[in-house]
Amino acid sequence: MATLATPMITRENPARPSETVGQVRGDDPASVRSAVKRAAAAQTAWAARSLEERTRIVLAAIDRAADQAPELGRLLSREMGKLLPDCLGELRFARALAHDLAARAARLLPDQPRGEGPGRRVVRRRPCGVIAAIVPWNAPIILAMTKIAPALISGNAVVVKPSPLSPLALSALITAIAANLPDPVLHVVNGGAEVGEALVGAAEITKVAFTGGTAVGGAVLRQASARFLPCVMELGGNDPLVVLDDFDPTPEAMEAIVWGTFLNAGQVCMAAKRLLVPQAMVPRFTDAYVDVARRLFRLGDPTAEGVTMGPLISAAARGQIAALAEDSARRGGTVIDLLEPGDRTPDDGYFLPPRLVTGLGGDAPLVAEEQFGPIVPITGYRDEAEMLQLANAGDLGLSASVWTADGDRGWALVGRIRAGLCLVNAHNRSGFAFDLPFGGIGSSGFGREYGDEGLLEYSQLQSMHAPAQRAGGGAAYPTTGT
Ligand code: NAD
Repeated sequence: MATLATPMITRENPARPSETVGQVRGDDPASVRSAVKRAAAAQTAWAARSLEERTRIVLAAIDRAADQAPELGRLLSREMGKLLPDCLGELRFARALAHDLAARAARLLPDQPRGEGPGRRVVRRRPCGVIAAIVPWNAPIILAMTKIAPALISGNAVVVKPSPLSPLALSALITAIAANLPDPVLHVVNGGAEVGEALVGAAEITKVAFTGGTAVGGAVLRQASARFLPCVMELGGNDPLVVLDDFDPTPEAMEAIVWGTFLNAGQVCMAAKRLLVPQAMVPRFTDAYVDVARRLFRLGDPTAEGVTMGPLISAAARGQIAALAEDSARRGGTVIDLLEPGDRTPDDGYFLPPRLVTGLGGDAPLVAEEQFGPIVPITGYRDEAEMLQLANAGDLGLSASVWTADGDRGWALVGRIRAGLCLVNAHNRSGFAFDLPFGGIGSSGFGREYGDEGLLEYSQLQSMHAPAQRAGGGAAYPTTGT
């Protein structure tokens, strides 16, 4: 009998699109359903193992897979264009995160007896079942590990769908981890929207953990809600970075701000996506930003020494960001290149020069929407009230930062910005901490990753009660007074 050829997903190097980095086998709805069924069939035995045993097995499997970090980091850098040191850092971070969550599990997941006195009351945490973990392309290893480690340790099975834009390193890592689990509770399925829909729609899925853009997240949420599936939704951001009038734009402080904006060529969910600066300070701040950025940015192959910014992820992403720059200029904005005059943008590959834009109104798409690429607007504000109004504009609320010489003033102000993560004199990766739950407000999503809260997403509460017995048997019915 003839079998249908399985479609292969081929990933090109965004720094040199004619070069194929690798391929993974693509899935179809039938193979997704079968992966979910295998995961569900294995989950009961997995959940029956003790918490200590599951934790030990999961950490050993992750540690063993981490032996492949040098090759996986290089593969990740080549398939997605992120700098090699950042890709190696991603693998280290993911492993450390798994260990951090495991320590939390030992404290948080055991049964909790409640109350004093007769009878027996316990609050138990049960696994949810089979988790659909859908991951974006821009930090695939970390954003899969925020789901895989807590889900497996809590007794669930997990089926992960990487983005077709960065499927290679993550699929290889998952395969390596799964090979060291005694039960087949970890699977990877590959493909785009159709495969994601089949995963969320598979009968045995009991929870969805999604990280990606707000529009796609909305579609996933609508599909999941039709089946009452609980979701963790980690979505997009249009995060304000606010400079106060006492801020001193030293080169060191400006360097922190520049990287807060442009790590991974601006393709980070929690990157600073709008810079809000006191109106009178805009010229000085802009000059300082341009000086430092031009000193820092060197575009090129992300695996090459000395390169500080790689390409965008795809031709489509490059087209969208280029169109935003053109739109900004049409609206009267001043678009400033952040490469040294004379520094070339590589001809091949999905490269764009990083850019700063001043003089745009609040309704310009670059200001009002998430850009997710190497271009950022500076908006002037007159007073604190206007700053807060600008910072809180729109539905997104992932992270926000305030930069000031007065830490207490910054602390008080930043908490008035509607965002899931509020930072003082830090932004993006420098504001991260394992013990702070991460996630959005409004259209940036709900549910949390990291910390105690990020672990507890992967279990559900079960209250157990054996009331005190009367002489002769049975529990007394309390008098309600009605
Ligand atoms: P995306 O929303 O386009 O894709 C995310 C994932 O969803 C991919 O695996 C994609 O194949 C899948 N998908 C697409 N359509 C689907 C459907 N109908 N059903 C199920 N799955 C579907 O996002 P992206 O371009 O990969 O990543 C960039 C976005 O992700 C940005 O908006 C960024 O801010 C956001 N992001 C958020 C966080 C966070 O923690 N909040 C972290 C990283 C990225």
